[in-house]
Amino acid sequence: RIDARRPLIAGNWKMNMDHLQSIALVQKLAWTLKDAKFDGTSVEVAVFPPFTDLRSVQTLIDAERFTLAFGAQDLSPHDSGAYTGDISGAFLKALSCTYVIVGHSERRQLHGETDEVVNAKVLAAVKHGLVPVICVGETEAELEEHGTSAVPVAQTKAALAGVPVGTPVVVAYEPVWAIGTGKVATPETAQEVGAAIRAAVAEALSADDAAATRILYGGSVKSGNIAGFLRQPDVDGALVGGASLDPTEFAAIARFPD
Ligand code: PGA
Repeated sequence: RIDARRPLIAGNWKMNMDHLQSIALVQKLAWTLKDAKFDGTSVEVAVFPPFTDLRSVQTLIDAERFTLAFGAQDLSPHDSGAYTGDISGAFLKALSCTYVIVGHSERRQLHGETDEVVNAKVLAAVKHGLVPVICVGETEAELEEHGTSAVPVAQTKAALAGVPVGTPVVVAYEPVWAIGTGKVATPETAQEVGAAIRAAVAEALSADDAAATRILYGGSVKSGNIAGFLRQPDVDGALVGGASLDPTEFAAIARFPD
């Protein structure tokens, strides 16, 4: 694994935890991870709290010098203006977010986000210096119709349209049928799709970018199944939903055997 692909264990809290709960969760997580492996060099651990928690999480991580990264779960494609309820990438950057999740399947399904919208959000993230964590993945019906890699590859290419060569991005393969269901893709499937996504990044950006891009698996990841995914050459980490709300379990995921 090349340096740029230091494993990333990312916790997507979704619409859970208010700002007070977020402080308790980050404190417990940081305390559980306090050892040499988590000095920020071998594994990167990132949390994605709701917008209303970000300032609290930023202040805590900053004050305690925790080696935790953080980001938001979504952003507006616009910079500022008459977009009631939306949050600009500029605001997230001002809060020192490193990352922002873009195109999670729940946004695609519940908020009608098309590939075009996802692409506009990726470009906005990049413009504001945020690393987009681009979520791709097929539904059960798409799996039956198109097989494993076609939909994630097409979504990856669409998301990266117009992104300059040399831009750091993360892509998370999250089969929709595996999210929050307890059904999990096999490590072999994650590897097959991970390799196909990497080839799509090479086409959309460059071979060097593809070699440096972290590709995550997401969908019912737990401490008991993480190691099988991380053994795959084209899986560089995990995007964890439900299990990221329990600091002991999330820390155990981040401690997957090297
Ligand atoms: P899950 O969610 O781990 O609860 O399946 C993953 C995600 O939606 O990112």
